[in-house]
Amino acid sequence: MTNNEKISILQNLIKIESVNDHEAQVADYISSLFEPYADQVEVQKVPFSKGRTNLVITMGNPNGKHLGFSGHMDVVDPGNVDEWQHDPFSGDVDLNAGKIFGRGASDMKSGLAAAVIVMLTLLEKGTEIEGQIKLLATVGEETGEYGAHVLTQDGYADDLDGLIITEPHMDGIITSCKGVIDYQVTSTGVPAHSSRPDMGVNAIDNLIQFYLAAKKLMAQHTEVNATLGQMTHSVDIISGGKQVNSVPDYAMLKGNIRSIPEYSNEEIFSDLQKIVDDLNAQDTKMKLKIKFIYPEVPIVNGENELTKLAQEISPKYFDKTLPVESSSGANDGSEFRQAEKQFPIILVGPGNNSSHGYDEYVAIDQYLTSIDYLTDVAEQFVGVHVVTKI
Ligand SMILES: [Zn+2]
Repeated sequence: MTNNEKISILQNLIKIESVNDHEAQVADYISSLFEPYADQVEVQKVPFSKGRTNLVITMGNPNGKHLGFSGHMDVVDPGNVDEWQHDPFSGDVDLNAGKIFGRGASDMKSGLAAAVIVMLTLLEKGTEIEGQIKLLATVGEETGEYGAHVLTQDGYADDLDGLIITEPHMDGIITSCKGVIDYQVTSTGVPAHSSRPDMGVNAIDNLIQFYLAAKKLMAQHTEVNATLGQMTHSVDIISGGKQVNSVPDYAMLKGNIRSIPEYSNEEIFSDLQKIVDDLNAQDTKMKLKIKFIYPEVPIVNGENELTKLAQEISPKYFDKTLPVESSSGANDGSEFRQAEKQFPIILVGPGNNSSHGYDEYVAIDQYLTSIDYLTDVAEQFVGVHVVTKI
């Protein structure tokens, strides 16, 4: 495949406005690229909801080692389009700057394109692989990883021996990620005139009791994970009350926890739930409720063959051996981590910190190099017999 063809695949992906929706169009486009190889691949579309379809494409030999590539097909909203120099959905190429622009250029249509092109390249070359390569393209990563959740629940990841998620990160190989727990606590009170607060129940006062107790309890989680560091807790949104002479009958807060394996998510849920239950039990005027939103487990990999290989091969393509790194962000890996088998999961792919910003871009050189690098990793992980097609 020529470099121009590789660039145009990425442009075509960027042109599909899959802003938290419409991933089915991305899945259709990617499937169409595999049509010339229909006898060598299995294409499975796994619907999530109307217009939103996960895509699984499998090639190779079921007996050998199985390598997964995963990328999400959704992108975040472009924000104020007037702030963009380049149309966010045009896939503009600036050859002088050596960049391709657009929403998803970095996060992560370039990574998705790279994974797709690795497979297409092997098919085009007629490379006979000893194992299997499987693309797991997901919906809804940016808003809760529910595409990866469905694929994991349905067993699509159970056969893997390793998974590369091509999220934008090329300075190193991410092998561990903190988990994420978002939670919301609501407090319901009774309204009254502020001249007679004794007639009402102040929802803010009650919510503050939760706030203080949660802050104190979460701060006691002081164990340190060797690669991820400490668990963190931050209350990020708090609201309540309507006007200054009315006792507020409603207040709400939202908090965010970045978890480490030393404390299971279930343990954190029950700690926070217990605060709510205890406060409600102590005072009949207290009406607190808690809910957890899209919690994700931490990912930690011990020493493993995939990471070792990805590191060993890296100096051939980059100016250094890519170091092993960790991240405090959530991604589809937390869902795939819940597959039946504990295979290594690593994150490495083209892109940069322009993700989610205006004039998001990917450097063309980096995009093309990442394809060569990932192809090499895939070939060496699953093993190949090179046969020449006549
Ligand atoms: Zn992403």
